[in-house]
Amino acid sequence: MLSKSDELLLIAKQLISLNFEQQKIHELTGIAPTKFALYKGTQYDNTRKNGFSWMKRPSTGYMGDRILRLYETMFGICPKKDNIDDPAKLLKLFKAYLAIYPNDDISTNRIYHFLKALQARSLTTFESCSSCKKKYFVYQEHQKSCCICRYSKKLQSSASKSNDKVING
Ligand SMILES: [Zn+2]
Repeated sequence: MLSKSDELLLIAKQLISLNFEQQKIHELTGIAPTKFALYKGTQYDNTRKNGFSWMKRPSTGYMGDRILRLYETMFGICPKKDNIDDPAKLLKLFKAYLAIYPNDDISTNRIYHFLKALQARSLTTFESCSSCKKKYFVYQEHQKSCCICRYSKKLQSSASKSNDKVING
């Protein structure tokens, strides 16, 4: 059985190899950044640091809806009310996310900053999307449906337009 500090070091190593921001790893685990160089890996090279821009557009914001729903499924609590500074949870969430949606442009950094933005109330959540009835988030402007539904509708309409072209052309 690993001691608490060994367990934390193991989590830190994995987060380092997943390119999670080192300053944040230090904040969440208390481990000195001087140790990080030893564990730097290239397991996953998507860094995707801070920034809200991806949360604003349905074409990338749908990942936020996925994070939100996955979090609640896994931990049984809304991330707004939970301790999201638990590095073990972040690691679990990231791994599960990537296993379920391997083609998404996701990173530990994106997940962490999304959760932080939820807690800071920069993002608002609503309980029921008008289309799929699932929980979703919005960035500033109010929307009645989630990014996943809005984005898939958009994809469908552009697909049907290109079909029309084929049919008509
Ligand atoms: Zn929806």
